[in-house]
Parts: sequence; C-alpha cells; structure tokens
Amino acid sequence: NQPFDHRAIREQFPLLSQAHQPSICYLDTAATSQKPHSVIEAMNHYYQQGNANVHRGAYQLSAQATRDYEAVRDKVQQFIHANNRQQIIFTHGTTSAINMVAHGLTEQLNCNDIILIDGAAHHANIVPWQALAKRTGAKVMPIKLTSNGLIDQSDYDAKLAMQPKVVALAHVTNALGTVNPVQQMVSKAKAKGAITLVDGAQAIAHIAVNVAQIDCDFYAFSGHKMYGPTGVGVLYGKLAALEQLTPMLTGGEMIKTVSFQHTTYGELPNRLEAGTPPIAEVIGLGAAIDFIRSQDSEHIKHHEQQLVCYLQQQLSLLSNIELYGVELTDINSTAMPNNSRHNIGAVAFNIKGEHHQDVGILLDQQGIAVRCGHHCAMPLMTHLGLKGCCRASVGMYSNHDDIDRFITALKEVINILV
Ligand code: PMP
Repeated sequence: NQPFDHRAIREQFPLLSQAHQPSICYLDTAATSQKPHSVIEAMNHYYQQGNANVHRGAYQLSAQATRDYEAVRDKVQQFIHANNRQQIIFTHGTTSAINMVAHGLTEQLNCNDIILIDGAAHHANIVPWQALAKRTGAKVMPIKLTSNGLIDQSDYDAKLAMQPKVVALAHVTNALGTVNPVQQMVSKAKAKGAITLVDGAQAIAHIAVNVAQIDCDFYAFSGHKMYGPTGVGVLYGKLAALEQLTPMLTGGEMIKTVSFQHTTYGELPNRLEAGTPPIAEVIGLGAAIDFIRSQDSEHIKHHEQQLVCYLQQQLSLLSNIELYGVELTDINSTAMPNNSRHNIGAVAFNIKGEHHQDVGILLDQQGIAVRCGHHCAMPLMTHLGLKGCCRASVGMYSNHDDIDRFITALKEVINILV
C-alpha cells in the first residue's frame, strides 16, 4: 500500500482536483462518490481497445473481455471475504440486488410469514419487500426506532420472537449515517431461522466488509458509492440461499438448455445474470476495488472518522442547528468513537424552523453540494417528525477545508434565513 498522502488521493479525482474550476465543495458522497482517473480510464480502455461481448465469442477479443469481466468477480470475492466466486452476482446496483432477492423468494413465502424490516431503511430496502408481501400475503413489519433514529434493539428482540421469515437490515443508514451492529443482529435472526439480507450500500466504501463474518444470507451494494461507475452493483449470497432464488430475469446467458417444451437453468452465478451484463461497468468496479485496495484502509477510515467528528462538532457549535442520529456524548467525546453508534460517512441536520430545500439552494449558490430531502427514507423522516433534512457526507477525498467552507457557507445561510 502507498503511504497516506491525502492531497495525492484527491488529485486522482478529476472533478475535485485543483485543475477543476470552479472548485466544488462536494459533500454528497453518500448519494454517489466521485470517480478516480483509474476507473474512468479502465472503462475507456475497455470501450476503445477491448469491446466485445462476454461468455460467447469464439475469438480472442471476446475471450479477453470474458477474462477481464470474470477477474472482477474474483476481486469482489476477495474484497468482501466471500468463500466462493459463485457467490458474487453482478447486478445493476443495490436496488436491483434487493429486488432480485425479494422477487426470488416469492415461492418461499406465504400468508403466515413475517418480513421484518429496519425502521430506518432506504426505500430500496422497503418497497421490494412490500411488493413481495403483496404477492404472497406475508406481512411487513418495521423494527421500531429510538428517538434519535437508531434501531430499538429490544423491539428487534421482541419481533424476532415472532419468528420472521426474512430480516432486512441496513449496515449503515443512508439518511443519518448510523451504524447497525449487523453481525450480532444477523446472528440473532439466524437463531430464529430467518433469511437475512444486509443492505451495504452506505457501508462498502467506508468499512472493511466481511460477509463471512457477518454471516448474512445476502449482502447488497452499488459500485457508484465506492468510487466505481453507476449501473453496476453486487449481490453476495450464500450458495444455498442463491440457489433457492427464483431468477427475476430470464433469457440468454442464464440457461443450460432451451427447447420450446422445456428450459433448464444454468449454474450460479450465470443463473442470476440473464442477458448481456454491464461489462464496462463491471470492469470499472474492478478498477475501483484496485483503487481502494491501493490505499491504506486504516488511514482512510481514521481520516473519514475525523472528518465526520469535525463536521458534527462544527455543526453543534451553531446555535440554530438540529442534528439527527447522533448522541451528544459522541460529539463531545475527544476520543475517536468506535462503538456501534458512531456515524459513518454522513451527518444529517436542519436549520431550526427552516425548510431543508431552501438551505440546499442557498448552499448551492455558494458552491456547496449537499443532499436535501427525505433521502429515500420517508418512514424514518416521519419517525423523526420531519419532512426532510440536509445531509453532508464525505469520502476518502474530502478534507477539513471542505468542512470549513461548508460551515462558513452555512453561517451565511443562517444569516439570510434566520
Ligand atoms: N440502500 C441504501 C442504504 C442507499 O444509500 C442507496 C442509495 N442511496 C440504495 C440502497 C440504493 O442504491 P442504488 O440507487 O445504487 O440502487
């Protein structure tokens, strides 16, 4: 690994490099991360030098494209510590990965079943389960939240006692950046016989994910939130769990034999990858993994944690700011918090009495990019008594200047609005 040189890291991201004018204060990494040169170049290289379809050509170019595509499966396997490359299914993102599971379980659920969902979940981890419930007659049950938006673990235990068929959790929530103790929660769910899915969209770029340790049946994430391209994601699954899924997409690539009388499906992972896959995007994802792995992960983690703490501290010094999903003790503690309550990547807030969209527009006028809205987590917003909020989020390229610039701009917004 290279020694930690923050400036050099930032220079690898064209949109954030010093050469890019006007300079953007990008604090919306939780929505999508910026992409380093290496990812953009890997995709360009494929289109310019290696473009061919995978898994079918009799010629060199296609064989090479297939090798490059399949090599990324090995990279992902190592990156998340899966046991077997067949456990890695390429999807179009987290949303399509969760839909693949929810659709795939249709034949395994009935009207007596309960689907237990994280009360702070992203809509992508709610709506597919509601659709599954509609198809099967099963019941969706949200896990209650504490007043500051964390999962209420006693409610979780109480609902697990009802023996849900499925438990769907976020690893890190997108709206608040709060972390769930997923390993412990999955272990409890498994003890009750539940099928477990962890939405890792907001975790994958920030923490070392070990699916074997978490021991969930399914883990989903998107390439674009981990310095890779849009249009690609991953569904990890235990082999038996993947094998039991009814494919959501059927067609070419996923079959063994086809006749007009009868079709047999192929083996994993092809069975769940019908049609031409997003080849360039998978190759870009591979470059993103190489990029992340070429950095010192401990330094990155420490750097991001410091930024989030600094962001929380600076926001808490402003009198008109309401912060969500944080404990005040976390903010005031000088020690680096590393308990499960520590926020990862994102901080959510409002200016008291002001509309989040107004704040977003006024920040944008000063070159600050944050996300304002319900963050695809309307039930969580309702729980917090909010229509929406602002969220500032960081990546490995973010720095203290970004936070200072943001805080200065926010003070200006407070002066205008309050
Ligand atoms: N889950 C979480 C926690 C997310 O943050 C997101 C993206 N905002 C998604 C799911 C959906 O990801 P995608 O849009 O890439 O499918």
